[in-house]
Amino acid sequence: RHARTQFRSTTQYSGLSRLLSTLAVLEQRDGKLNVASLAAVTAGQKLGGSVTAFLAGSGVKSVAEEAAKTKGIEKIIYVENGAYDRGLPENWAPLLEENIKKGGFTHILTGHSAFGKSLMPRLAALLDTQQISDITAIESEDTFVRPIYAGNAILTVQSTDNTKVITVRGTAFPAPETEGGSAALEEGADPKTESPTEWISEDLAKSDRPDLGSADKVVSGGRGLKSKEEFDRVMTPLADALGAAIGASRAAVDSGFADNSLQVGQTGKNVAPQLYLCAGISGAIQHLAGMKDSKVIAAINKDADAPIFQVADVGLVGDLFEKVPELTEKLKSQ
Ligand code: FAD
Repeated sequence: RHARTQFRSTTQYSGLSRLLSTLAVLEQRDGKLNVASLAAVTAGQKLGGSVTAFLAGSGVKSVAEEAAKTKGIEKIIYVENGAYDRGLPENWAPLLEENIKKGGFTHILTGHSAFGKSLMPRLAALLDTQQISDITAIESEDTFVRPIYAGNAILTVQSTDNTKVITVRGTAFPAPETEGGSAALEEGADPKTESPTEWISEDLAKSDRPDLGSADKVVSGGRGLKSKEEFDRVMTPLADALGAAIGASRAAVDSGFADNSLQVGQTGKNVAPQLYLCAGISGAIQHLAGMKDSKVIAAINKDADAPIFQVADVGLVGDLFEKVPELTEKLKSQ
């Protein structure tokens, strides 16, 4: 199914064509560039025109120097201020507004991450434009493709806004090469807006495994695992043998088998690894919405009619408590 719609805002199209220029808003944490956020640069390159990247936080100049090596970025604007460290949208929206007005960018792009999802609607409101979410393709400078209804329909959106404020789906725009570029650095404007919001603390799930959202291989378990003990006993050695991240279905998360941060699907994470190997997952549409773009999907399920087999490249009908340990042993002996 394919729908087409047009967004119009109260800002009338001026008719004056500005040179296409993208501001790609990047993420960093504790002085480390979030490489997945470079998807915004890839999307900017697809648009054509110049791509300027934006970073803010304390000690962010060294992150900007690192990001400057990314191919395809012309300039990096950075703002050194601890108020922008944790990505609070109340602080970031006026910061970006100021720098966008100064730079006259036509397209503002960032990842469809928790940061992008909370920031871009605020920014769009300040700029009086319609925000466009979670794009997976660019048809032209004003026409974008995005999934709706958990990926069951694809919408083509045409925007007449002067400034387009967009979040991009990382799995649809692989990060560019992070070596070989030589972007110029420039200090940006800091409006130092008084904010009613203060960052106090956070509880992060810590793991030595690859990050679920960007891992090459993901092994995922569902309700078929029966308990947290069995989930850990069966899935962890498989993940270790493959060097994979661990994911889970919502049923597994809701039943307490796996941490909330591991949920894959419509209301969890979107993943598109080279290999997605799942066991004891039926393949509900809400789960498929988060993993169906994986390059190779392998599924183990005891029910030959499970819908997961309709999207799987490789399927094994059998009892996971027997098949997964067998597979793990074979992988270990390789
Ligand atoms: P089940 O559907 O119960 O499937 C378990 C499977 O395990 C079965 O196919 C069974 O044959 C198999 N099995 C059982 N025992 C064994 C065994 N011993 N060996 C091999 N196979 C076995 N779900 C998500 O995953 N992610 C989401 O983000 C998400 N968001 C949602 C949002 C909304 C608004 C709604 C309404 C639902 C959402 N869901 C989501 C829930 C989704 O609809 C399903 O309920 C869920 O994905 C089912 O999880 P499951 O496949 O693990 O469980």
